[in-house]
Amino acid sequence: MNWEEYVRKVVPYTPGEQPKINNLIKLNTNECPYPPSPLVKERLDKLRYEDLRLYPDPDASSLVLTLSEYYKVPEDQIFVGVGSDDVISMAFLTFFNSDKPILFPDVTYSFYDVWAELYRIPYSKVPLDENFRIKREDYYGDNGGVIFPNPNAPTGILEGPDMIRDVLDHNKDSVVIIDEAYIDFGGKSCLELINEYDNLLVVQTFSKSRAMAGIRIGYAFGSKKLISYLKDVKFSFNSYTMNRPSLALGAAAIEDDEYFKATCKKIINTRENTKAELKKLGFEFPDSCANFIFARHPEKSGKEIFDRLREEGIIVRRWDHARISEYLRITIGTDDEMDRLLAVLKNILTPLAIF
Ligand SMILES: *Cc1c(COP(=O)(O)O)cnc(C)c1O
Repeated sequence: MNWEEYVRKVVPYTPGEQPKINNLIKLNTNECPYPPSPLVKERLDKLRYEDLRLYPDPDASSLVLTLSEYYKVPEDQIFVGVGSDDVISMAFLTFFNSDKPILFPDVTYSFYDVWAELYRIPYSKVPLDENFRIKREDYYGDNGGVIFPNPNAPTGILEGPDMIRDVLDHNKDSVVIIDEAYIDFGGKSCLELINEYDNLLVVQTFSKSRAMAGIRIGYAFGSKKLISYLKDVKFSFNSYTMNRPSLALGAAAIEDDEYFKATCKKIINTRENTKAELKKLGFEFPDSCANFIFARHPEKSGKEIFDRLREEGIIVRRWDHARISEYLRITIGTDDEMDRLLAVLKNILTPLAIF
């Protein structure tokens, strides 16, 4: 049994469940309720299965070129990976090698501390203020790196470009990663700052706004230097992270910009309507700029609402962490799905209404 002493023991990240039950309304993992662009389907039908015997392009050049043209960023300032989880984990491994702790909020994407533990990176969770806002001064001190999502998850709160700039101005000696998984739902990307700050990495994903969580593509923008360090680590880890179908279908999703913009607009619209209806039911939530709403009800426990919704075939996300245990993170679905959610919530809150 001696070998067990030398095992890298970790507590893994727990993703939202993907239940194998039909007719569920699935509002628990921030997926897009609409399918990917029809151009993706077209490209999928044209994929040659014989080509799967060949390794993919290790540089993912076709996808990188498409991203480069769309975002107007030179190809050598773009890195792609198997979802932004892959990109961010690679960035932790590459950039966070100081003895000083890296900093991220106490309420945030719960994968950050898992990677820090996995790679044995010291870290410190910085408490958000009582309104779940990031206090920028908390990121002024000496540190081994900084990462937070913008908008933050699961709160949905968006910070403006001057806040990001301020954090960068106070952190010239460490790498700052801004995780923009939800930026397309109403925020402004801080992408243009990569030309001013060579230590800024901006990460985005195809999983939410581009409706392609199943294909696993994430990407990052940064200075030439930052991206080249990332690539060195990637090529020391796995040369072929991006498979052939992902490369082809990812490019198709970017090409159909009209569909992308229309999809985001629909989701934003549904989100704003849902906010208004949730307010009428007495829910409290920070104003969300993402494709989810982080809500609690002052008169009913989060656990009870969660369980009752599940009985009705609606799954949302909830964490048993002290500060947020009363909250539910509700992904924005279609208008029909949200109507059903609201009807069920109404019944949970005013049970007499059914008599
Ligand atoms: C969903 C999410 C990711 C990861 O998404 P991928 O599917 O791996 O691209 C990263 N960061 C945040 C904050 C997320 O919510």
